[in-house]
Amino acid sequence: MLLTLRQIMQQVDRAATLDDALAMAVQQAQKALSLDACAIYLKDPEGDTYVLVASDGETPPMLEPLGGEPGRRLVTVVGQRRELIVELETKVQPADGAPKDLTELAAGSFLGTPLIHYRTLLGVLVARKPAHQPYAADEVTFFLSLGAQLAKLVHEAAAMDGVGRLLRRDARADPYIQAVSAASGLAIGIAVSAEAQTRLESVPDRVAADPVAEEAAFNAAVAAARDELQAAGERLAGTVPEAVRALFEVQVMLLGSDALVSDTVDGIRAGNWAPGAWRTTIAHHAQVFEQMDDPYLRERAADVREIGQHVLMHLESRVRAARGTPQRCILVGETVGLAEIAAVPAPCLAGIVSLHGSPLSHMAVLARALGIPAVVSLAHAPELLDGRELVVDGDEGRVYLESSPALLKDLQKRLDRKRTRSAELQALRALPAQTQDGVQLPLYANIGLPADCAAARISGAEGIGLYRTEYRFLLDEALPVEDEQLRDYRQVLEAFAPMPVTLRTLDVGGDKVLSSFSVQEENPFLGCRGIRFSLDRPELFLIQLRAMLRANAGLGNLQVLFPMIGTVSELDEALHLLARAERELVAEGLEAARPRVGVMIEVPASVFLVGAMARRVDAFSIGTNDLTQYLLAVDRNNVQVVTPYDALHPAVLDAIRQVIDTAHRFGKSVSVCGEMAGDPAGALVLLGLGVDALSMSPPLLGEVKRAIRCLTHERARQLAEAALGMEDGFAIHRLLHRALDRIRACSGST
Ligand code: PEP
Ligand code: MG
Repeated sequence: MLLTLRQIMQQVDRAATLDDALAMAVQQAQKALSLDACAIYLKDPEGDTYVLVASDGETPPMLEPLGGEPGRRLVTVVGQRRELIVELETKVQPADGAPKDLTELAAGSFLGTPLIHYRTLLGVLVARKPAHQPYAADEVTFFLSLGAQLAKLVHEAAAMDGVGRLLRRDARADPYIQAVSAASGLAIGIAVSAEAQTRLESVPDRVAADPVAEEAAFNAAVAAARDELQAAGERLAGTVPEAVRALFEVQVMLLGSDALVSDTVDGIRAGNWAPGAWRTTIAHHAQVFEQMDDPYLRERAADVREIGQHVLMHLESRVRAARGTPQRCILVGETVGLAEIAAVPAPCLAGIVSLHGSPLSHMAVLARALGIPAVVSLAHAPELLDGRELVVDGDEGRVYLESSPALLKDLQKRLDRKRTRSAELQALRALPAQTQDGVQLPLYANIGLPADCAAARISGAEGIGLYRTEYRFLLDEALPVEDEQLRDYRQVLEAFAPMPVTLRTLDVGGDKVLSSFSVQEENPFLGCRGIRFSLDRPELFLIQLRAMLRANAGLGNLQVLFPMIGTVSELDEALHLLARAERELVAEGLEAARPRVGVMIEVPASVFLVGAMARRVDAFSIGTNDLTQYLLAVDRNNVQVVTPYDALHPAVLDAIRQVIDTAHRFGKSVSVCGEMAGDPAGALVLLGLGVDALSMSPPLLGEVKRAIRCLTHERARQLAEAALGMEDGFAIHRLLHRALDRIRACSGST
């Protein structure tokens, strides 16, 4: 049954439209399980009704389209219960006391499973056999698995408006791919792959400038790939079973086949360049194998694709040279990282599309800081993005594969509205973030490179609340020496003096990996991260602390911040090294100024240690990104858990309250520098909880300031109190968004 399921899904995946795919699925399921009938109903996302979109076999009442038919409730029941229902020998007449929905059926053995993806009910898959014919256990498993796989397919189509169009019976082309917004703004540009090696399927066609040279390059690439495979097979002789070694021979043999080579040479002679002609040949031959009945031959399709990629590796320099970096480049990758962003010349980078990842990843944080529109976690990964013109809509989290004049006009209108809005916010730049009853809340900027100072100043930030020093370490191949670090830190401190600048010590680990110190960890977010990394390498840590202290000389506006502190002894050790750095500098006759010292509260344990730590440091900064992740046990980088990841969760709010209350009892200040501070709803509740400052990405500062200027501190306090009394995050979101709606009606004069 498993093999049958795999074959069905292979066919379904190849279908051109969702309509065809679902029709094929029910047809094949009906055959595989000898059903009377099989059907798929999709739930209309706009309402609570189900629409029959595919059916096969006889259509008994229970499978008929909804609308007063007896079967109507049946499909609904599967959806409502969100569980597999196996109902054998259902009766035509309701039995006394029996659940009515399930008994108002035509006689038969009924099977129904909901189509659920990421906890969203998308539809229902139902089937019927004649009465008294039970379903075997493996048939039920088959049906359940088919439902799960179809749910993923429907989800992907829904993300491209495919479901809406199917329900509307609208045959227009897919307009966009839904993704998750990571950094706002609009960008139009040419997709450039961030991957080290180009995928063969994404190689474009191109006119060959010199067909003879193309043919020679292709033959050389094939010969090199064949030699490598042969050598690898020979190296393994005697160390692996012959059957395994034979796999190499199969590939060598396929590579030597006339068809693969001659078809490609024909393509080159017809005018295509070698990588494009090779892509066409491989796609054709892999498809031929895939359609074979013999399972062994079908498996050879994977070999053909593997060979295709291998030969392309030898043609890669041609692909890269031909590609170059377009003027307006949209960087596209599986999971785009900081190093890939750094590899694109800054003026060329227009947008970022990361097929995976989350808006809380450090890539997203950097994109927001740079003001580059970015989307992550595409619901559906298209085959050919490289080299295509794309539109990235960072506000709605969409990627448009084609930019029609109508779309561009629409987007331009939105851009104009945004410009007007940001001009309005810019007018607030010189005004303080002051509530209507006169309470001022300093707003600082989060940055990571000296070049970001300009954006921070333009935003009206009153200082730097978080300077992520690790960005320099991640962007440079070599570790920056003390003088290089000093130059960076000095530049930032000078740019803002006498306003405060908080330099956070190195916070690597998790998704921020230093290439020169990469360690293999099963679970890096719970591994050698933040202060643990620095304390493990005191020689590196001391260099950084010395650079910070030297940068503060004659200015005195530095605050050093330690990340990921989880125990008091970690803090003591860090303070000890800070004191040692200071002593060393004094002994060397260098000028150093003692800074203020702060601790980040982002490990849940530290929430309970604020009292002990308050005796040792000047301030606390709450990192709500990590605090939320660790307190709620939800990965900040995993979009599958994006709903449970909620900085407005009552437990997170209560932890923040506890930190503020304890720190204030000791006369110490508390700021918040996680993404929550840049969200107007989050900012209001933090203001009400009594936080002393907020720090955020510069583009977010205007909206937060506007929200603060439109209410009284007393009102914010009431909102925080009400939020603390609530039991779930949804209610808190509702409360704060209602308050924000009222604020939006506030006059522009504020
Ligand atoms: C945080 O965790 O909230 C924070 C500001 O640190 P980072 O996002 O750099 O981990
Ligand atoms: Mg953090």
